[in-house]
Amino acid sequence: MITATCPTETASDWRRQWREAITDPDELLRMLHLEAFADRVIRPQDGEFPLRVPRNYVARMRLGAINDPLLRQVLPVREERLRAPGFALDAVGDLASRVDTGVLHKYPGRALLIATGSCAVHCRYCFRRHFPYQQETAARDHWQAAIATVRADASIEELLLSGGDPLALATDKLRELTSGLADIRHLRRLRIHTRLPVVLPARVDDALCAWLQQLPWPLAIVLHINHAQEIHQELRTAVARLRDSGAVVFNQSVLLSGVNDSVDTLADLSAALFAAGIVPYYVHLLDRVQGSAHFEVAEATAITIEQALRARLPGYLLPRFVREQAGQSHKTPLHLLAPGQASAARAGTVPATFSAMALK
Ligand SMILES: *Cc1c(COP(=O)(O)O)cnc(C)c1O
Ligand code: SF4
Repeated sequence: MITATCPTETASDWRRQWREAITDPDELLRMLHLEAFADRVIRPQDGEFPLRVPRNYVARMRLGAINDPLLRQVLPVREERLRAPGFALDAVGDLASRVDTGVLHKYPGRALLIATGSCAVHCRYCFRRHFPYQQETAARDHWQAAIATVRADASIEELLLSGGDPLALATDKLRELTSGLADIRHLRRLRIHTRLPVVLPARVDDALCAWLQQLPWPLAIVLHINHAQEIHQELRTAVARLRDSGAVVFNQSVLLSGVNDSVDTLADLSAALFAAGIVPYYVHLLDRVQGSAHFEVAEATAITIEQALRARLPGYLLPRFVREQAGQSHKTPLHLLAPGQASAARAGTVPATFSAMALK
């Protein structure tokens, strides 16, 4: 087993790194020696989804490469302002009204708590680009209501902490939540969906690990990594610490044009994940959110990629290719998306159900 040997950073370090994230597209271009591409970027206005990327993530990008797969995930580009049919603005309109307590219970046995609305990184393909940012969802006032919701429903065996990014919350706050859940007898597992260890590995500090270690439930942590270039020594160390704290660590990706829509890239990703102690779990097809059409990969292409990966990888390194579909009580495997259904989904709005993206 890999053990974490690097000195850990203190909580204030990740807070500071969070605050020092890049938010100016022109500054980002300058850092990467890409000033020549200034006319390709947009400078989000008030009310638009702002740029946000921690310096740690920028450090993984290649200099002078406008097509870098990490840069593409975070750089606001002109294509976002194009209006594509079937790409809806109101991807989470329903969501916001359906989750007064911050708890979504759509899948049997599993309830999802939107622990906070904040993210350390803003992924351009995420439905959150249309989410009212100031509005924190279940945090603070709603904690008690969320806990009561879980307590009152004995069918809930697993609670998923999601967001936004639940690890954006202070560790004390997380501890307060799980203390409130500790005596619920029917709760058998806890799951945390987070991208923070990827973009800000300092978040996995001593306090976080101490909190994880004392949790009374088996623990799954699902990271969000789209490309092997996102995996680096600091992340490996963070993952080793999460594992040492008792978590089983999984990954989900989003299939993104120009980022990871190739067999080689995804095969590489699976290998790099496993080498870092992470098990590939899902590859999500893009949620059709307005402003993200340039990331779309055709379903037929996705099917071809999945088949080729199946022929190439050991079964345990093959992620499940899925799409989130309205009204389903599970993610739909790609091969079960009938061609008719697929085009119906294209014509319709983005699923009013909870978006796969919220699980990053
Ligand atoms: C995706 C999702 C889950 C978790 O699904 P798994 O297949 O167990 O990973 C749970 N609740 C909601 C609302 C979801 O969208
Ligand atoms: S919810 Fe996940 S995918 Fe969306 S912006 Fe936050 S980290 Fe990125």
